[in-house]
Amino acid sequence: MTAQGDETFPEIRDSVRKLCTRFPGEYWRALDRERAYPTEFVRTLTHEGFLSVLIPEEFGGSGLGLGAGLAVLEEIHRSGCNGGACHAQMYTMGTVLRHGSAAQKQFYLPKIASGELRLQAFGVTEPTSGTDTTRIRTFAKRVGDKYIVNGQKIWISRVEHSDLMVLLVRTSPREDSAKPSDGMTVLLVDLREAVGHGLTVRPIRTMINHATTELFFDDLEVPVTNRIGEEGKGFRYILDGMNAERILIAGECIGDGRFFIDRAGAYARDRSVFGRPIGENQGIQFPIARAYVQVSAASEMVKKAAAMFDAGKPCGTEANMAKLLASEAAWFAADMCIQTHGGFGFAEEFDIERKFRETRLYQVAPISTNLILSHVATHVLDLPKSF
Ligand SMILES: Cc1cc2nc3c(=O)[nH]c(=O)nc-3n(C[C@H](O)[C@H](O)[C@H](O)COP(=O)(O)OP(=O)(O)OC[C@H]3O[C@@H](n4cnc5c(N)ncnc54)[C@H](O)[C@@H]3O)c2cc1C
Repeated sequence: MTAQGDETFPEIRDSVRKLCTRFPGEYWRALDRERAYPTEFVRTLTHEGFLSVLIPEEFGGSGLGLGAGLAVLEEIHRSGCNGGACHAQMYTMGTVLRHGSAAQKQFYLPKIASGELRLQAFGVTEPTSGTDTTRIRTFAKRVGDKYIVNGQKIWISRVEHSDLMVLLVRTSPREDSAKPSDGMTVLLVDLREAVGHGLTVRPIRTMINHATTELFFDDLEVPVTNRIGEEGKGFRYILDGMNAERILIAGECIGDGRFFIDRAGAYARDRSVFGRPIGENQGIQFPIARAYVQVSAASEMVKKAAAMFDAGKPCGTEANMAKLLASEAAWFAADMCIQTHGGFGFAEEFDIERKFRETRLYQVAPISTNLILSHVATHVLDLPKSF
């Protein structure tokens, strides 16, 4: 076996690897066929405390930084499992932690840490605005001590498996705001009360098993006490949450990349064609080695972004660069792994084709590659903005 891999937080990594052996390929394949949610896997991770590593100890979590979160998610993905079903439970609470009131933190965070409350849903994207978040139209009108929410969201994942959702809405029109990013507000929606009472959830079947949905808001009532932070400042609140999300998802990509390298290396050593292991051919060796070089380099960028986030430094550019490099390294490794396996790369029982489909997502979500390049071009390299 290769020595590749990062050994920060070795105890966490070791425990997560052991936990993942209880959820082998057959488990994920059966769920994938049915597009079913990995309830048992998520419950186990929650009960063993791996989804509360970022919650401060005073609220019942482990009080660790993003590096620990990366260790958990990387090892889940390296083991052939998928953290997409539960990663949001780890970081979505950051909006409450960093911008919620003392009472909100005291009420929600211990319950999220214990798993009593699932905060798995983060509702930003809309059908008509796409990546241009300042053009969201879902509107919350204040009436007394309630907001009345109307609008639509798309691609909102895990809503059916969550008790709460962090929702970004407009509380004043874009045209009336001093800056396009002003006038947006964050609401914490209690899904247990909302679904069927102003909120309709429609699942979207996709090429991967991701429990994503479309949401329709029709006079949904949300108490004003469920607003996070000040009205109109919501865009700012979700930005640092987005940086954490990008860094942690980059960690999932690193785990995927290592999964593909592990599997390709093992197969290349074992499979003999023309009387010798295929791994003796440089045409097979070099792509595996290149994938290793790329995943290792991306991993350094991910660690740098995580360290900056944990130090409270601005890290938007680094989080974006980490996500771009890691998602592309994982995709190169996925393609290499299919090629190394020849026909068997396409057989469901090898799990390569499933992971290949799963890792493709990360060049599109949570932010697409073009938008990252645009950020680097205009914010770092001072090139003119084209839109
Ligand atoms: C499985 C899945 C799960 C998701 N889960 C969630 C979730 O839980 N919560 C949530 O809020 N969202 C979620 N999303 C949404 C995701 O964040 C968006 O799909 C992603 O940000 C891209 O936005 P879009 O699909 O609207 O693409 P668009 O913004 O419509 O862009 C389409 C393409 O055009 C490119 N493009 C757009 N503008 C430009 C430009 N100016 N220059 C160059 N290229 C450009 C983009 O890079 C992209 O490739 C999910 C998406 C998927 C597929």
